[in-house]
Amino acid sequence: MELRKDPITRSWVITGDDVIETTPRSQACLFCDPYAEPAQVIANLPGLDGSAWSARSVVHPNALYHIEGEPARRGDGLYDRMGSVGAHEVLLENPRHDGHLWNATDPEVEQFLRLAALRLQDLKRDSRFKYISIFKNHGEGAGQEFEHPTSQLTATIFVPRRVLYELRAGRDYFEAKERCVFCDILAQEERQNQRVVEIRGDYLAFCPYAPRVPYETWILPRSHESSFERTGSSRVGSMTDLAALLRRTLQRIRTVTEAFHLVLHTSPNSQHPSATLGYWKTLDEDYHWHIEILPVLEAKARSYTFKEIYYSPVTSETAVKRLRNAEI
Ligand SMILES: [Zn+2]
Ligand SMILES: [Zn+2]
Ligand SMILES: [Zn+2]
Repeated sequence: MELRKDPITRSWVITGDDVIETTPRSQACLFCDPYAEPAQVIANLPGLDGSAWSARSVVHPNALYHIEGEPARRGDGLYDRMGSVGAHEVLLENPRHDGHLWNATDPEVEQFLRLAALRLQDLKRDSRFKYISIFKNHGEGAGQEFEHPTSQLTATIFVPRRVLYELRAGRDYFEAKERCVFCDILAQEERQNQRVVEIRGDYLAFCPYAPRVPYETWILPRSHESSFERTGSSRVGSMTDLAALLRRTLQRIRTVTEAFHLVLHTSPNSQHPSATLGYWKTLDEDYHWHIEILPVLEAKARSYTFKEIYYSPVTSETAVKRLRNAEI
């Protein structure tokens, strides 16, 4: 595996000739079957009600990125390439094989969120890593990898393209208005109340004005904060509200479809100055962490196969009515 940079869009891709798996997928769960090969544990959160652990991070069994070595960035004519240095972890959301984020208890979901914050904090100490992504693909249409309730984490030596767009847009908006664009969106959405799914304590779930897919939903903290892990470690009580809102939002979305992508967008690793990325002083003021949930609708798949322009056949104003009124 290696990283290559597209010289036109300047975005990195990971590529390599993957060995095609010929062995049939075993029925046993890699993460909770007592006879399965034990996974390499990185971090555990203490168990609730007598269980050994509540949320756990392990090395991905087929990691795309590896922690050892230097990126060794080098040119290849006009092209750029580097080694796939990074981290690739599986975050076990629950010790129970059927303990999904939408049917777990709020304290269980909260433990998973704390684990995510802890891993972000820990990996940002490594100056090689520019960004840490946390995401979940659930359902066949979304490319789910494991049966056990899991999310995944990758720490990369570059900032993913979509996040870079958001960071630059946030900075530009702040330069012009001296305000955070996400805070402005929140204020308008709360005022208009046309696309708000639910408000819980300091958190708001809403369908974005220009959705990429039907029923796209975002969750944001209502008070400004650029880094998720800072919220996770400082505002102790508020993680309970986030856990409940995340659980309830997923329940709502599951009344429409089972499959979804979920991604956490948080500030990049700005603890270590980067000459190539040239982090700006206002990063903490102009960026605002959030969770994006992109449902996968089988019947509508055609609508976003061509990703040049997103086409959503359901407006957010219509989507929100169904999500708000869902029986959960
Ligand atoms: Zn399992
Ligand atoms: Zn903000
Ligand atoms: Zn985002």
